[in-house]
Amino acid sequence: VTKIGVLTSGGDAPGMNAAVRAVVRTAIYNGLEVYGVVRGYTGMIEDDIYHMDSKSVANIIQRGGTILKTARCKEFFTPEGRLKAYNNLAKRGIDGLVVIGGDGSFNGAQRFSNEFDIPCIGIPGTIDKDIAGTDYTIGFDTAVNTAVNAIDKIRDTADAHDRLFVVEVMGRDAGYIALHSGIATGAEKVFVPEAQTDIDELVASLTEKERRKKLVNLIVVAEGDKFGGGNEVGKILKERMPNADIRVSILGHIQRGGAPSCFDRLIASRMGYYAVESLLHGRHNVMVGIVNDQMNYIPLDTAVKEKHIFSDEWLHILKVLAS
Ligand code: ADP
Repeated sequence: VTKIGVLTSGGDAPGMNAAVRAVVRTAIYNGLEVYGVVRGYTGMIEDDIYHMDSKSVANIIQRGGTILKTARCKEFFTPEGRLKAYNNLAKRGIDGLVVIGGDGSFNGAQRFSNEFDIPCIGIPGTIDKDIAGTDYTIGFDTAVNTAVNAIDKIRDTADAHDRLFVVEVMGRDAGYIALHSGIATGAEKVFVPEAQTDIDELVASLTEKERRKKLVNLIVVAEGDKFGGGNEVGKILKERMPNADIRVSILGHIQRGGAPSCFDRLIASRMGYYAVESLLHGRHNVMVGIVNDQMNYIPLDTAVKEKHIFSDEWLHILKVLAS
């Protein structure tokens, strides 16, 4: 490779900027030219591509969002769209691509490189942490810490009024934010898409605790849980426990923004560095992950959403600690 493109695609995640910076600086260090593609695959198709130098990524490691912008792009699903995208890369001589995003973005990259023989390297960037082949994804640590800080504040007011709060956190198909933030804030229960929650058992346990004057403040619900999110869980609990003072709080998009945590900056820097190293060493179409603190490369087409690593052990620990 001599010239590479870098883009962020799909859902945004804090730490994407740190990854872009690492890709750009590592590439320049190794004598490559780098182009930034704006708004993911949309910019590739619309020719919104600019030359980047070391200074282009100055002062961004600490910033949330992504300076390259991100988007979902319908046209990239079509062969015509991907051909347009290819032509825009080809006319600049771009012969390698780094895609920072989730499994959808990797699917797109895989298809693209099957058709046009441009090696693509994926970097997992998603607050949901549900990607196979890596223990960490960029943005999860920041998002879950944002959730923890917010839930701590809700606990204060819940405690002052002896209220029970149902707090909804993000995670459409994945319960990691709910599980981790629930354990870290001492929640009574978490509702996650990966596991069934027994409402009868929960109501029985809440009633029993009320009897022995143990105040319960918090229930954390993933937006994609089996009951349909915080409002639905709140409704059910209000029906079942008409005398309890129950409120619902939806944390929402604050979980996507803000300065990335130290941890997210570290993994973004490391993954960005190794994404360029991969291209230099002739690796084709892999996602750069970290497993047991070692770099781990898996084929892009196997970098799918994964849930099985979700463990019952944590749900049990949470139950014991809330007893
Ligand atoms: P994420 O990367 O966060 O999972 P999406 O699933 O929305 O986000 O995917 C981002 C973009 O990747 C899509 O808008 C589309 O442009 C592209 N993409 C996803 N799947 C495919 C596919 N099978 N073929 C071509 N492009 C795809």
